[in-house]
Amino acid sequence: MDDVVDGKKKTVTSTGKRRVRERKTKTIGGNSSSSNNNNEIGDMEDFCSDEAQKIRASLLEWYDQNQRDLPWRRIINHYDHQHQHHHSTTIEEEEDARRAYAVWVSEVMLQQTRVQTVIDYYNRWMHKWPSLHHLAQASLEEVNEMWAGLGYYRRARFLLEGAKMIVEGGGGFPRTVSALRKVPGIGDYTAGAIASISFKEAVPVVDGNVIRVIARLRAVSANPKDSVTIRNFWRLAGQLVDPCRPGDFNQALMELGATVCSPLSPKCSFCPVSGQCRALIGSKNSESVVVTDYPIKVVKVKPKHEFSAVCVVKILESQDVSEGTQSESGFFLLVKRPDEGLLAGLWEFPSVLLDGEVDLTARREAIDHFLSKSFKLDPKKTCNTVLREDVGEYVHVFTHIRLKMYVELLVLHLKGGVNVLRNNQHKETLSWKCVDSTALSSMGLTSGVKKVYTMIQKFRQPLNPIPAKTRRSKVLRN
Ligand code: SF4
Repeated sequence: MDDVVDGKKKTVTSTGKRRVRERKTKTIGGNSSSSNNNNEIGDMEDFCSDEAQKIRASLLEWYDQNQRDLPWRRIINHYDHQHQHHHSTTIEEEEDARRAYAVWVSEVMLQQTRVQTVIDYYNRWMHKWPSLHHLAQASLEEVNEMWAGLGYYRRARFLLEGAKMIVEGGGGFPRTVSALRKVPGIGDYTAGAIASISFKEAVPVVDGNVIRVIARLRAVSANPKDSVTIRNFWRLAGQLVDPCRPGDFNQALMELGATVCSPLSPKCSFCPVSGQCRALIGSKNSESVVVTDYPIKVVKVKPKHEFSAVCVVKILESQDVSEGTQSESGFFLLVKRPDEGLLAGLWEFPSVLLDGEVDLTARREAIDHFLSKSFKLDPKKTCNTVLREDVGEYVHVFTHIRLKMYVELLVLHLKGGVNVLRNNQHKETLSWKCVDSTALSSMGLTSGVKKVYTMIQKFRQPLNPIPAKTRRSKVLRN
């Protein structure tokens, strides 16, 4: 049996629930080196080869009959079938790369996101960039737009950077975990998935589903978030992986966790590995034990609370005002976030982080300061304020941050139109653009920006509060 043992630990920040913790793995032959780690965690006992074989056989048989029909699997399974009939190295390499690319894109999208949501994104992505070479030609702007709404945008950026690196390297798609780990954004989870599914390397893949299944099979009472415990899950998963069908086995284990061994209501009577499940045996022997006791629950760290003032700035040019078509005409001001940090490089409405929950006056002061500093726009002095209304609040939850956004709408009339902004811009430190409502609706927007825009759209009544004839005199106050 091939055995995967813990290499030198290298922990990379987890990007989500699905990928638990990335670390370096090393594949070696034989089954000799698990005892050191085994001593660290008392109840994470090795699978003996008889147990491992039973689990593999049952799980693969179940998977062959029950696997979900998912678009990325069509490419993989089609390839498996074709592969048996041709022996051209070039064609095989092309097919390998195509399959690896499909696995890569799908696995990255699936981190932190439900399968049903990913299907649409995946299909659109593959339609636009059907191969690694197509993706390598894309711009970050295009990739971010395509990714809009999936969250964790670093994943999209890494996909693009990785694609460029592989294509520029000229050596074809990396085929092993160790080679894949050198690609930006590919950690142990993704490397294991690509190497096992696309290139049949007998390496494990550990995500939240795999941890749950193994924690129950072994009735593990150690903290599943602990780095040593996670290393041991990788070790146990490595003992289970099927040497002949590693990719199918890994997918089967994840699929079992996703569809049968669910967090709250596992369907043990339909489970192909119930005979090897210690949690189930424990629950039959004692009324105080239930399988959902495993893996143990860990108290979540409370997210940090942050507050921001978001100002949707709509700029009307003279013609827009005189036509009295405020709700449709005009341009929205968008600014680009910094290239590093949360939502790096993405477009948003102007916003300012606040020192806690502050009142409307303080929020407006913060926004006014930002607009004045960045564009020399002063709603009180340098331009005509057509409308300024508090629209409401919206809470957006990121992994570690709970961001409360206070949203306001500011409609300005600029005589020189948006060109005035260009002339006014303070140095070239900020990227910005003005888009009309049609362009804004068709842009890929983050879900936070989309939500704010929806709030603004629903806020119709104040946008057209005054009959056109009287509006003009009120609007153009000087
Ligand atoms: S028997 Fe139940 S708890 Fe055990 S692995 Fe199967 S579904 Fe999960």
